[in-house]
Amino acid sequence: MSARSAAPALSPAGTRVFQELVRSGDASRTALARDTGLTPGAITRAVRPLLEAGLLLETGDRASTDGALGRPATMVTLQAEAHQSIGVKVTADQLFGVVCDLRCQVLDEVTVPVRDHGPEAIVEQIVELVNGLRAGRPAVGSVGVAVSGDVDAASGHVAYSPFLAWRDVPLGDEIARRTGLTTTVENDVRALLTGERWYGVGRGISSLALVTVGTGIGCALLVNGQVVHGEFGVAGEVGHVLVDPDGPLCHCGNRGCVEAIAGSAGILGRMAEAGFDGLGIGDVADLARSGQPDAVRVLADAGRAVGIGIATIANLLGAQHIVITGEAIGSGSGPDRPVDEQDYDVMDPHVRSAFEQRAFGSAARSAIELRPLRFVDWARGAAACAVEHFVTSYGRS
Ligand SMILES: [Zn+2]
Repeated sequence: MSARSAAPALSPAGTRVFQELVRSGDASRTALARDTGLTPGAITRAVRPLLEAGLLLETGDRASTDGALGRPATMVTLQAEAHQSIGVKVTADQLFGVVCDLRCQVLDEVTVPVRDHGPEAIVEQIVELVNGLRAGRPAVGSVGVAVSGDVDAASGHVAYSPFLAWRDVPLGDEIARRTGLTTTVENDVRALLTGERWYGVGRGISSLALVTVGTGIGCALLVNGQVVHGEFGVAGEVGHVLVDPDGPLCHCGNRGCVEAIAGSAGILGRMAEAGFDGLGIGDVADLARSGQPDAVRVLADAGRAVGIGIATIANLLGAQHIVITGEAIGSGSGPDRPVDEQDYDVMDPHVRSAFEQRAFGSAARSAIELRPLRFVDWARGAAACAVEHFVTSYGRS
């Protein structure tokens, strides 16, 4: 029996404690009282339904003591595997699936090629993938799906996904109906941000921007502790910030957008114009490292465009932390090259110098972090959305 099917009513205080423990894994009762502002008695009442449901465990008095009072600490530990979620990232070529626990640790993963990226065929394949991953895992109780484009997370509808050529697809309803599992659907970059907010650099900060550099330039924003969805499903379109009015044509119809200069197609297109056909992003980075002038110039332009884009975000929002990640940043390299030597090292100084030049005043204090992105991370972000939904709605009728 899944924990969800036994869900007792949970007070708002209980939900706060549950969220705190999903973020931290475990805490003493004293630390929980301090971090939530609740009294010890309120903590006791708050955790009781979660203990009874097997989602938390009291590990009793520890040998170590709690604070300066010298009393033994009673630890409350999340039973992370008591509820498991499946995360799925949909692309036009492949589906990436993971099973995660409540701490979003990956318990299993699978990649399958997409046979046909029409909505009915993709739903069929997602259902197959979910059923394969949940076999022998009775604790699987929810599914999260991440799709690029304009996604209405509240309804689970994909309004428009250019890479999949989808319009108005009720993806969440279909998967929930076919699997019997609670299903959330989110824009893929906002799903990554959700993972960072619960388990990564977003913990404990109120403003964070996450920018993905790949085929497209994606961006998701955390402002005042809330993920920005945009009234019409569009927000933070840093890919279409103007960098150069005379620059290359963008698919949006304008010239010189960040995406036209720093997206993979833009980079490879300019390399082709210089006589280098059939390259991947990793090849361009290798050429740049060896000093090939066209590759150096094209990646410098790309890095500068990304730097201008993130300076625009910093100037508008004053984000505390900006993460730049994506295929064009890191994962395009060969498997034998260590992660810290992947392609983002080529763009990094150009991103930072353009950012420093364009960020106004204290906006330049935003912490800028470039890091590679593995495809499994996208699926993990989708699972984080399913966990978030489970934790925030648990015990609510
Ligand atoms: Zn554009």
